[in-house]
Amino acid sequence: MSTTTSQRLAGKVAIVTGAASGIGFQAAVLFATEGAKVVCADLNLAGAQAAVERIAKEIGEEGRAVAIKVDVSSEDQVRQCVETAEKQFGGLDVMFNNAGIMHPKDDDALTTSESVWDLTMNINVKGVWYGCKYAVEAMRRRGGGSIINTASFVAIVGAATPQLAYTASKGAVLAMTRELAAVHARENIRVNSLCPGPLKTPLLMEFLDTEEKKERRLVHVPMGRFGEAIEQAKAALFLASDDASYVTGTDFAVDGGLSSAYVTPL
Ligand code: NAD
Repeated sequence: MSTTTSQRLAGKVAIVTGAASGIGFQAAVLFATEGAKVVCADLNLAGAQAAVERIAKEIGEEGRAVAIKVDVSSEDQVRQCVETAEKQFGGLDVMFNNAGIMHPKDDDALTTSESVWDLTMNINVKGVWYGCKYAVEAMRRRGGGSIINTASFVAIVGAATPQLAYTASKGAVLAMTRELAAVHARENIRVNSLCPGPLKTPLLMEFLDTEEKKERRLVHVPMGRFGEAIEQAKAALFLASDDASYVTGTDFAVDGGLSSAYVTPL
C-alpha cells in the first residue's frame, strides 16, 4: 500500500498511454495513488492489465483503473479510448500522451529506411496529435484539463549517435505542444511537453546493451547516472495537477542537467 497522502489528483480522470511499461506504468500507478481514476492504454494489453492490478494492490481498491488495448497511431482507437474514460469515469481531466517507440533500425539520414521513418512518425507524432485532438474535445465538455506529451531531451540537443526519425518526431512533439498550449490557453486546457533524459527503462537499456555504449552517454549527464521512470512520473504528476495551474507550453526537462551542460564533472 502506498504511503502517499497528498491526493493531488483527487476526483480527476486520467488516460495514460504506454501504461504497460516504463514511464507510463509508473505514472498510471502514481496518478491513481494520488486519487485519479486511470485508463491504462497500451498496445500491450497484458501489460496494461498488470498496471491495473498494481494500482488495485497499491490503493487497496478495485475499479479505479481500467486497461484498454490501443494503438495510438489509429485515430479510431484513440477516439474509443477517450470515450472509454468518459463512459466509465464520467469525463477526462488529464491526458498523458506518453506511448512512443525508438526503432532499432532508426539511424542517420542515409541509412534510415522510409518504413522506419513512417512508423516512428505515425506513433510518436500522429499518435500524440490524435491524443490531443480527442482530449481537447473531452476537456471542453469538462471545462478544462491538462495534456502532457512525452518528448525527449534529443529534441533539445543533437547526438552523434543518431536516431534521426526519433529525434525529428520528438522535435515535432515540442512544436505541436507549444502551439496547442497557445491555442487552448483560454479554454483552461494546459498543454506541456515532458522531456526525459536517458532512462533505465527497457526502451533504452535494450538499445544500450554494452557498458561502452552506456558510458558514451553517461559522460554527458552532469548527475552521472541514468534517470528512473518514477522520476518522470513525478514530473508528469506535477504537470497534471493543479499545482501547475500557471504552467503551459513548456519543454519540461527532467534530464539530470544534460540539456544545460557543456563540460560535466569528472
Ligand atoms: P517503454 O518501451 O518502457 O514503454 C513504452 C510503452 O509504449 C510500451 O508499453 C509499448 O507497448 C507502448 N507502445 C508502443 N507503441 C505503441 C502504440 N503504437 N500504441 C500504444 N502503445 C504503444 O518506454 P519508456 O522509456 O517508458 O518511454 C515512454 C516515452 O518516453 C516514449 O515516448 C519515449 O520516447 C520517451 N522517452 C524515453 C526515454 C528513455 O530513455 N527511456 C528518454 C526520453 C524519452
